[in-house]
Amino acid sequence: MARVPVKLVSWEEIVEWSRGLADRIEESGWRPDVVVAVARGGFVPARLICDFLDITDLLSVQSQHWVEAARAAQKAILKYPYRVDLEGKKVLIVDDIVDTGDTLLLAKEFVEREWGPSETRTAAMQWISSVAKFKPDYYYLEVRDWVWFQYPWTRLEDTMQFIARILREDERARSGVSEDELKSIFREWYGVDPEELGFYWELALKRLREKGVVRAENGKLLPR
Ligand code: ADP
Repeated sequence: MARVPVKLVSWEEIVEWSRGLADRIEESGWRPDVVVAVARGGFVPARLICDFLDITDLLSVQSQHWVEAARAAQKAILKYPYRVDLEGKKVLIVDDIVDTGDTLLLAKEFVEREWGPSETRTAAMQWISSVAKFKPDYYYLEVRDWVWFQYPWTRLEDTMQFIARILREDERARSGVSEDELKSIFREWYGVDPEELGFYWELALKRLREKGVVRAENGKLLPR
């Protein structure tokens, strides 16, 4: 069993899941005038939904997480709370996944309060029903056991974070590991074979070296 369960999601799956989500919206008989993507995760699904439902108006709000002082919990806030007039419009707010649900709920409350639409509904490709405080109006897949979905648009970012975490937290990595050893620890931690990551693996190591998170010494990789 992986320490952190990760599922690599392909671009093909993203198209299929977004298409499935668009179908649910269409089948409900409700048609939004405007789509709002929650940045950054909602961008690709929102754009695909516009394509599948033939919608031209696409806006975005960006959420950000703050670690509250002296608290472990993170609080979601909106980074650029700008105003637009959406009076009389039906608005669909789209994200990739509803995990705790804080982000989508925050975006919905903000749009309703500040942009004045006639109605808002929420949609996400995936909904983690065992964890979420909130069920979106539309979703395509219900997820029961928590997994980190490694979406194709954060492949580099996530791979860097996965490697950095091993170097910080795995005893074996502290004193230095060969790249092959690192790959095997990576498989153990995340249940993902680095070979499946293609060029992202090398690129992640390169970026981590540039950032000084990893250093190479006598053929071994070490945390800084
Ligand atoms: P919170 O706001 O508490 O972080 P959300 O459920 O609102 O939780 O998720 C915010 C964003 O974090 C999502 O839109 C997604 O991009 C990313 N995310 C959260 N959980 C996962 C997960 N299990 N797999 C992949 N991405 C996730």
